Amino acid sequence: MSDCLFCKIAAGEIPADKVYEDDRALVFRDISPQAPTHLLAIPKKHYAAAHEIPQGEMGALLGGLMNALCQALKASGLDKDGYRLVVNSGDSAGQTVGHLHIHALGGRELAWPPG
Ligand code: 5GP
Ligand code: ZN
Repeated sequence: MSDCLFCKIAAGEIPADKVYEDDRALVFRDISPQAPTHLLAIPKKHYAAAHEIPQGEMGALLGGLMNALCQALKASGLDKDGYRLVVNSGDSAGQTVGHLHIHALGGRELAWPPG
């Protein structure tokens, strides 16, 4: 999608601090981190939210996304310390970038419930 910020990052048109990348997915550091380690995992193909992925693509797309995220979790050490995954979808959840992304937060105590 031409006017999507995360599509531009996926295409290399906007720089990002990349932690892991393959042909299907990219993991990079959030520009405004909410924890000492704050990663964003995106599929390179544009979908605004998980529920918009067609059934026939769901397994490969989300499997590829989770694989990328897990490689980045291990590369950044969050696999050892613990982490929280968050997906904001839509206005009431506070989604600000309309391209599916998984937040991974760690490196400090994370309150539960999150509020
Ligand atoms: P959302 O609020 O949609 O769940 O999360 C969007 C996230 O994208 C926010 O945490 C925000 O800090 C991050 N973000 C927004 N613009 C940029 C950018 O240009 N680069 C990076 N690395 N992160 C961004
Ligand atoms: Zn996009």
